[in-house]
Amino acid sequence: MRKQIAAANWKMNLTLTEGEQLLDQLLANAYDLNGNRQVVFAVPAPYLAMANEKVKKHAHVAVAAQNCYSKKSGAYTGEISVLMLASMDVSHVVLGHSERREYFNESNQFLAEKVNIALEHAITPIFCCGEPLQIRESGKQNEYVAKQLEESLYHLNAEQLQKVVIAYEPIWAIGTGKTATSEQAQEMHAYIRAQLAAKYGSSVADEISILYGGSVKAANAKELFSQPDVDGGLVGGASLLADEFKVIINSLK
Ligand code: PGA
Repeated sequence: MRKQIAAANWKMNLTLTEGEQLLDQLLANAYDLNGNRQVVFAVPAPYLAMANEKVKKHAHVAVAAQNCYSKKSGAYTGEISVLMLASMDVSHVVLGHSERREYFNESNQFLAEKVNIALEHAITPIFCCGEPLQIRESGKQNEYVAKQLEESLYHLNAEQLQKVVIAYEPIWAIGTGKTATSEQAQEMHAYIRAQLAAKYGSSVADEISILYGGSVKAANAKELFSQPDVDGGLVGGASLLADEFKVIINSLK
């Protein structure tokens, strides 16, 4: 059975001390993370070492960078390379978050390069896709998301694709308090899986975790995660609150 994942996306929030306290509070709890459940903390880059040190005693808990560059090393002031992440034993990287696409002009093609370099260094990409509001209102969300997947992922072979985690995050639901209904989430997740199955076969598609993101909170996590094709969530705002995120972790299938 594919992994069920509660991924926290801290974005550009929290001081070092606040981050340490939040992790301490969350890691003090015993979760039933046996089997297929996993928790991932996507923390700001300066906190990766701290977070990795704290989670290393906890099986099934991992740390993610929120971004990386498409080149291995060189004169790219301010960027973070996968070599650096790999050398710190960081296991995951969030790629293509809608905020990166919007504010930093990250294109599907650029993200394809990032996915490649992450996989080359055995770092799991959490690849984000999702449509803006006007696309949803025009009913073209399936085509929009299909193009994101096609241009950033479909050059991979099946073995590579199986190492990718996908996060569907409708932009209109991110940080807005407006969650997709569980039916809307399930519909898109099933569509994504069907697209993957058409390209790679259903046994490959069935193994890929597809997370939902966009105003996931304690009050809606169980219902969203109970959908057959929703394999957990990528959680922003609610992941900054220990009590909320605890409930979200415990809502995994
Ligand atoms: P949100 O953010 O949970 O605050 O809506 C989700 C995300 O952007 O990953």
